[in-house]
Amino acid sequence: MSAKKFTILIIPEGSHRVRRLSIKRGVLQTVLGTLVVCGLGVLLLVADYVRTNLDSNELQRLQAENRSQQKDLWVLSASLEDLRKEMVVLSQNDAKVRVMAQLSKPRTDSLAGVGGPPEEDIPTEFTALQQQIDEIRQAIDLRRESQEEIQGFLNDQRSLLAAKPKGWPVKGWLTSNFGMRNSPFTGRLKMHEGLDIAARTGTPVYASADGIVSQSETAPGYGKLVVIDHGYGYKTYYAHNSKIFVKVGQRVKRGDQVAAVGNTGSSTGSHLHYEVRRNGVPLNPHKYI
Ligand SMILES: [Zn+2]
Repeated sequence: MSAKKFTILIIPEGSHRVRRLSIKRGVLQTVLGTLVVCGLGVLLLVADYVRTNLDSNELQRLQAENRSQQKDLWVLSASLEDLRKEMVVLSQNDAKVRVMAQLSKPRTDSLAGVGGPPEEDIPTEFTALQQQIDEIRQAIDLRRESQEEIQGFLNDQRSLLAAKPKGWPVKGWLTSNFGMRNSPFTGRLKMHEGLDIAARTGTPVYASADGIVSQSETAPGYGKLVVIDHGYGYKTYYAHNSKIFVKVGQRVKRGDQVAAVGNTGSSTGSHLHYEVRRNGVPLNPHKYI
């Protein structure tokens, strides 16, 4: 473009006059340049508008997502709170059982008190939820420990119950009580350390509790003697038998026949001499019938 001036012809249709516009080169350049700059400006504006619009959509989407997650967290937190309350009830029941079993108080856990915080205080922050989960886990561990201890206690009780002598070891009639009496042999006052139960020779003699036979022999005074060790310090003695049906080391259950009534040893007639001892001390068998 080396010309200094340009002429633009505007030719209308029909018989109207042709118009001509003379423009200097500099003016044309300025006009063209302005047009280009304006066009670019419009383009930038449009681009910015589109981007802002996109950003705003994304923001709305994220906000909606955030609200939904917040709601999920709240639901989760509420469920945790329910769990915590249930654990509190379990803890209280556990404490009651321990009182009944006369066990020591359980170690205190962090789930003290019932109810917990009012609903608006339910924490929804991640760390708070984590802490709540930790507390519940700790409480569960404590309950498990306690339950095991109670279980052990109940097992012990059951064993003790099975080990404690109970009932009559023979069907017969009581002829001599536990306590001081005049010896039928010497006439002198002597401690009678058991019960004498008269019965026909051959009448079955039964173990009065579960245990292990610790003696099965003829012993001075006692005659044919069976001793059963029941554990927990308890032993029972069955003396003057005519026959013995168990061996040392044999395990017996309450009600098992261990011997037959007789008149062996220092005895003045067919009867069973029955003793209950705890840690070697003779007890009144009447209290164990
Ligand atoms: Zn006796």
